[in-house]
Amino acid sequence: MGQRKITIVGAGQSGLQLGLGLLQAGYEVRLVSNRTPDEIRAGRVASSQCMFPTPLSYERSVGIDQWLDAPPVQGIGLSVPDPDQSGTKLFGWRARLEAPAQSIDQRIKYPVLMELFSQRGGELVFEDAGVENLERYAREDELVIVAAGKGEIARLFTRDAARSVHDAPQRALALTYVHGLAPEPEYSTVSFNLIPGVGEYFVFPALTLSGPCHIMVFEGVPGGPMDSWGGLGPQAHFENSLRILRTFLPWEADRAAGSSLTDPLGVLQGRYPPTVRHPVAVLPSGRTVLGMADVVVLNDPITGQGTNNASRCAQVYLEQILAHGDAAFDRAFQESTFEAYFAQAKPVVDWTNALLSPPPPHVLKLLGSAAQYPEIASRFANGFDDPADFGEWFLDPAGAEEYLAAAANRSAANTARP
Ligand SMILES: Cc1cc2nc3c(=O)[nH]c(=O)nc-3n(C[C@H](O)[C@H](O)[C@H](O)COP(=O)(O)OP(=O)(O)OC[C@H]3O[C@@H](n4cnc5c(N)ncnc54)[C@H](O)[C@@H]3O)c2cc1C
Repeated sequence: MGQRKITIVGAGQSGLQLGLGLLQAGYEVRLVSNRTPDEIRAGRVASSQCMFPTPLSYERSVGIDQWLDAPPVQGIGLSVPDPDQSGTKLFGWRARLEAPAQSIDQRIKYPVLMELFSQRGGELVFEDAGVENLERYAREDELVIVAAGKGEIARLFTRDAARSVHDAPQRALALTYVHGLAPEPEYSTVSFNLIPGVGEYFVFPALTLSGPCHIMVFEGVPGGPMDSWGGLGPQAHFENSLRILRTFLPWEADRAAGSSLTDPLGVLQGRYPPTVRHPVAVLPSGRTVLGMADVVVLNDPITGQGTNNASRCAQVYLEQILAHGDAAFDRAFQESTFEAYFAQAKPVVDWTNALLSPPPPHVLKLLGSAAQYPEIASRFANGFDDPADFGEWFLDPAGAEEYLAAAANRSAANTARP
């Protein structure tokens, strides 16, 4: 059998990583992008794209290691303002990640990886693929994978009502890329602030076109006071970011006092419903195409998992394709490949949807207790790299009680030890 050929539509996190992995394994790959590297570099930010250690290791295994010196994110912090005393914290804590995370502006990363893909012999095609293009790729190649993120073409994949919890946006999203935000003492974190009924704000170091920066992410409850971006130009968007911080999170406003926008396209506003879709779309000819990453499992960014999931998805699809040897990439293969990924994505969906709801008592108790018991803070922080861990203690009220009691006992035993 000759070289197997696969087309991937969409040169984003999942498409690029899978494309590079397949080239490395000796496959012929066509990667289709509706944007050129220059257009991406000159375009708007699209994400805060913070990636945790395990997805970073998947990237490194396919040769994505160009930004080892980028600003590290070394921990996770959480603060909740006191609803009764404006301007003060009800509690706040931070914990180190076992290995650093990092965020590279997609405007830097995607063009470099597209060029790497071409240098390694991949076929990079610039077209805005529609159904007719998909038909042609499916006629010519053995497998077509759609990795087009939130692109229109994702609508070919129908919503899976049984697996989708929401049918409307749960947050009004905004990004603000800034220079000059004050660093944290000791180690850098994703500094996460949870304002019940209003929304969430998190901020962390990253690398953008103009150098090291911080990315502010606002997650406003729709219709609430943090849902206040409609139509604002870049400078007004930046000023609105500071206004929100001054109103709800003065400690974050202090850090941001000397900051300024990185560039006029370093802002984003938007909203979308978190959705799980059926993984296989049938073209008019009857041929099938397989969806990947955001096309099939689109989460709210509140847990910062989309790029991580895209990397996990690329890794699972690569493993499934390699393990399939010379067998046909038929519909059964496409369905089972997605299910192998969904086994990893499901805990992320559950955890993300849980954080979008008002926190139940056991979650408030856990988050509050993390200020007292560092092991809880550490487990929460490192769960960003391994969200499957949240099931038994964070998402389950009985498991939470058991874990809290055990953590309290361990702490007491440690204190009692001479
Ligand atoms: C506000 C916000 C903050 C976020 N913060 C984080 C975070 O901190 N951490 C994290 O892990 N994730 C975060 N995410 C999510 C993350 O960016 C995405 O989940 C991730 O990029 C998805 O990867 P992907 O490969 O599915 O798609 P993408 O990376 O979006 O790539 C899709 C590519 O396909 C191309 N395309 C689209 N349609 C077509 C077509 N018809 N033909 C050809 N090409 C096409 C697009 O131009 C694009 O380049 C955030 C998202 C948002 C909106």
